[in-house]
Amino acid sequence: MLSVIVMSNVKDMSLADEGIRKINWVQKHMPVLEHIKKQFEEEKPFEGITIGSCLHLEPKTINLGLTLQAGGAEVAMTGCNPLSTHDDATAGGAALGLNMYGWREETEEEYYKTINQVLDHKPDVIIDDGADMILVLHQERKELLSKIQGACEETTTGVHRLQAMHNDGALKIPLIAVNDAYTKYLFDNRYGTGQSTFDAIMGTTNMLIAGKNVVVAGYGWCGRGVASRADGLGANVIVTEVDPIRALEARMDGYRVMKISEAVKHADLIITVTGNINVISGDDFKNMKDGCMLANSGHFNVEINRPDLESQSTSVSEVRESIEEFVMKDGRKIYLLADGRLVNLAAARGQGHPAEIMDLSFAAQALSAKYIIENDLEVDVIKSPDELDYEIAGLKLKAMGIEIDDLSDRQKVYLADWQEGT
Ligand code: NAD
Ligand code: SAH
Repeated sequence: MLSVIVMSNVKDMSLADEGIRKINWVQKHMPVLEHIKKQFEEEKPFEGITIGSCLHLEPKTINLGLTLQAGGAEVAMTGCNPLSTHDDATAGGAALGLNMYGWREETEEEYYKTINQVLDHKPDVIIDDGADMILVLHQERKELLSKIQGACEETTTGVHRLQAMHNDGALKIPLIAVNDAYTKYLFDNRYGTGQSTFDAIMGTTNMLIAGKNVVVAGYGWCGRGVASRADGLGANVIVTEVDPIRALEARMDGYRVMKISEAVKHADLIITVTGNINVISGDDFKNMKDGCMLANSGHFNVEINRPDLESQSTSVSEVRESIEEFVMKDGRKIYLLADGRLVNLAAARGQGHPAEIMDLSFAAQALSAKYIIENDLEVDVIKSPDELDYEIAGLKLKAMGIEIDDLSDRQKVYLADWQEGT
């Protein structure tokens, strides 16, 4: 095991060898990030730069940290969810020279303490997921703002929060909305969430999906992926939405669409992926069938109103790892997975999206971080530049051995000429 002295606060360094084995495994399946890592090793774009991150801490994320480190950065990392950290991966990352802070099952106080420990490194660039670190920076660590050259945000709700902050004039740093890169949301949110949500639900419950009524709340990029995987597994899919266009799309994709108040009556399994609060609350719990299972794969722990569920139940117990049984006053039993936090990452068996998907998302993060330090950006919420997207897609296709066509000169002329084609 390589031994480097770093500042770290992890659960157990004796897990480092196992963590490194897992990091080595994902590296074999992240060819785009490996390519960028080699480029960074030669170019050293981050010499003298400190990068602080707040991302789900597991082997693929450590590989992002190692990529930034290869580019010369000092890297400090903490988790963006108190339940999603893999303690072997953080030990492995620390042994490989990254400054790692955090462990699985942090209290809220510990969660914010480790965010502050990363900020103590005085980062030049921040990579956030959900915007918690950027909020702490603006509210409690204002003295660090002037050194920050920019930040990247990984997820939809994080971008929404930061856009709202910018609209209020409260955002003080340039922000690249990495979530809004095509090579991020089209693949990570859709296929990543689709697969990893069912990986985690099936691993946690050991239940069959075929023949079940699966309700998907929210038909955005994540919802489309979750519904399509549920369909592929043989479920009867019901979608709930608040947006008429997306509701129509779900209907034409072949799913039943109805109000959540009606859908809960049919549901064997409900998966929320809206980014919104109280999507399942109050009377919804009263109308559920005995045995209904609830999982969230959207945002934090707010989509399923746990206090409402608790107030209607007579007892709560953990009946299997990451499954709580709520016995309702009329005797029905309702099951909540992973405390209502992102089931694909927070369930004990959750491993998040596969490496091939995080290869794209983290390639977008690595190149966006480089873009920040190479450009003098203004305070704004900026979509990740298209040229980075096309570079990443091209590298991924190459790694997959897929070739595509080029436009001929004649085709270019034809496409640009408004008089032709009639
Ligand atoms: P999106 O904006 O594309 O889709 C969200 C959809 O939910 C929208 O169509 C919206 O109309 C709908 N919606 C909002 N409130 C609703 C309600 N009360 N009932 C029904 N539908 C409602 O967003 P997205 O990219 O699909 O992301 C969804 C959430 O998942 C976000 O919080 C995002 O941060 C998170 N996310 C999670 C993972 C993961 O690994 N689990 C991955 C990517 C994104
Ligand atoms: N941090 C908040 C916000 C949602 S996290 C929370 O925990 O509730 C959703 C993000 O997790 C997605 O945008 C996705 O890119 C990221 N993610 C999914 N699988 C991952 C993995 N295996 N490793 C790291 N991040 C992952």
